[in-house]
Formats: sequence, C-alpha cells, structure tokens
Amino acid sequence: MDHKTLLRLAKTHGTPLFVVDHKVLRENYLQFRKHMPRVQVYFAVKANSDPEIVKTFYEAGASFDVASVAEFLTVHALIKHLPAKQRQDFIWDKIIYANPIKAIETLQQLDPYKPLVTYDNHEEVVKIARYAPHSGLVLRLRVPNTGSMVELSSKFGALPGEAVDLIAFAHNNKLVVEGLSFHVGSQCTNPQNYVQALHLAASIFAEAKSRGFDLKLLDIGGGFPAHYDATVPAFKSLAKTINAELDRLFPAPIEILAEPGRFLVASAATAVAKIIGKAVRGGKLCYYLDDGVYHTFSGVIFDHCQYHLQSFKKAPTQLCSVFGPTCDALDTISLAEQLPDLDLGEYVFSENIGAYSAASSTSFNGFPPAKVIHLNQ
Ligand SMILES: *Cc1c(COP(=O)(O)O)cnc(C)c1O
Repeated sequence: MDHKTLLRLAKTHGTPLFVVDHKVLRENYLQFRKHMPRVQVYFAVKANSDPEIVKTFYEAGASFDVASVAEFLTVHALIKHLPAKQRQDFIWDKIIYANPIKAIETLQQLDPYKPLVTYDNHEEVVKIARYAPHSGLVLRLRVPNTGSMVELSSKFGALPGEAVDLIAFAHNNKLVVEGLSFHVGSQCTNPQNYVQALHLAASIFAEAKSRGFDLKLLDIGGGFPAHYDATVPAFKSLAKTINAELDRLFPAPIEILAEPGRFLVASAATAVAKIIGKAVRGGKLCYYLDDGVYHTFSGVIFDHCQYHLQSFKKAPTQLCSVFGPTCDALDTISLAEQLPDLDLGEYVFSENIGAYSAASSTSFNGFPPAKVIHLNQ
C-alpha cells in the first residue's frame, strides 16, 4: 500500500488502523479464478469476517465457507434480496457450512435453509438426521498437513478406512452425501499435501461407487499460501499441479470447490500503529506500540505468523524488540525487528496482515481493536 496514503490515514483517523484495500481483494479473487478456472471459490469467512470484505467477494462472484450461525447469516443477508425460490436453489451454490462439529441449536437454526454441511463422525450423523434432516452432507477427510504453518488434521477429519462406512451410515439415516472435503493445513507451501489428499479422495470416490454411492462434489479446502515472502512458491505453479491431478482423477461432471481464506485476504490489509513508548532494556532498544498480539497482531499467537514492522522513515536500522500496549509480557510482537531510531508518536506499519488478524482481535485490558478503513470499495 502506498506509504503516503497510510501516513495520511494515520494522521486523519488516529491509530491503531487496519487498512483494507478492496482492489487487492478483487485481484486475489481473480488470480484464483484465473489459475484454477474449474474450481468454484468459497471464501473462508473466518479468515476475515468483516461484512464489507464479504460483500466485495460476493459482488465479485464468490461463494462462502462459513463455520458458525453468525457467519452464515452475514452471507445469507447478501442473498436475501433474491426471490425465495432462487434463493433456495442458490444456497448450496453460495454457502457451505464447513464446520464438521455443530451444536444442536446450530443445526436447528440451519435446517430451514436446507444447507450443505460437512461432517466427519457417527455422532454428527445422528445429530444432523435428527435436528437438520434437510441438510446435504459432505464428508471431511483427514489428510496430511505436513509443513503447513497451521495444522488442522488433529481436530477434524474421518480416517480413510472409515470414510465409506460413514457415507453408508449417513445413507441409512436418510441423508445424502454429496461429496468429500479436506483441508491440507493453512499456509500450505508443500504441494504434495494437495497431491496426496487428491489421491486419497479419488480412492474413496472409487470405493464409494463400488458400494453404490455416487459422489458428485469434491471440496479441496483452503491452505493456499499467501505470498508473505520470497520462499513461498508461486500460486501459479501450485495451481498447475492441482489442476493436472483434478482433471486426471476427477473428470467433469464432478464439481470442484475450494475454500481459500488466507490467500484471498492476507495481502489486502496493512496495519498502522504508533510508537507510544520506548526504552532500552539489557542494551536492546524496545518499542511499545498502540497495537499488539491481543489485537491486530493476534496471528502471532493464534496463527503462528511472524509479522514484520517497517518504518516510513529511511534511516539506518538496529535490532530491537517490539511490544503491544497491554500490561502483559505475552503481548510481544517481535524480539528481532530491524527499525531505525524512531521518536514517540512516529508510525510503523506491517503488511500482508489481512488474514487471521483483526478477525481474532480482542478488547483485552481495555484497549479497543484497531479502527478499520476500507479503500477502493
Ligand atoms: C480455516 C478454514 C479454511 C481456510 O483456510 P486457509 O488456510 O485460510 O485458506 C477453509 N476451510 C476450512 C474448513 C477451514 O476451517
């Protein structure tokens, strides 16, 4: 993002700021569509659930992966204007409820919408059959998450050996399983995770078919990496690998869905914070900002993501520590940043901070979350 704009916004609105560029959101969406034209994009709302962001993706043509009733309703509010009949036809096309575990109350609230939902165990089938019998089902598989920044396989996913039994079990409970889904782990820089997951899914499609279950849809999940630094492989080459396997193993008319979160939003936001304190401890310069890990930098804790800070000033840098504003030592953004000698009241910024950041910000210790600014809406 252009530095002059960021500085002007900081001066006008005060800090901390979370600046979202909707032009970048649209570009990221188009990039995904361009390199994976066969894949329908369901934006994973949990990466950043700001309704303005959801709206921009909706207008660009995206569908949505939601994981709570609140997220479901954020998206449903956008399709409400459609005539009732069209809205109903539209729902699987626009929303997948991709949280394999759903409370009974959640199922009761979702059922009138006849949703498409994921599951991965027997208990969930019994619950869905009883409390949301109008749902369509997608079985979530457990797949390797090797090398991904955030792993998701320890919490969810049916084992390959139990998959077809779980499909039969749903069938015996008068539910229809439409297809399979998986998640290779977030910020997946290892294309082999996708290749292995696709092979596994293909073998389950075949086994299901031999037992009389015709699966129609494959949801390849999220995990598509944001370009945080030069070590991240280009999306284009990952897409090429995945496309080749999809065409070989899942020919049309099998429908292919994906649930990118991070890839679509990470690069679209920049945080701007102010230096509110400065000290030298153990010979090392320490900066204190008005934003930290309980707020926009929450990804340092929850997302295993290391954000780097930059100064607007071009000057020689030195090794320093950067802390957030709360009265708590966990609120440490970094112990190794390179920043120039900055005065109190000067600003710093951090790029590529659109995913899993503002979304998990709190008001801990009485410090409110950063103000959100939307550009190029
Ligand atoms: C979090 C999540 C996503 C998004 O993952 P990214 O790594 O951000 O692309 C997609 N699907 C499910 C089921 C998720 O839980």
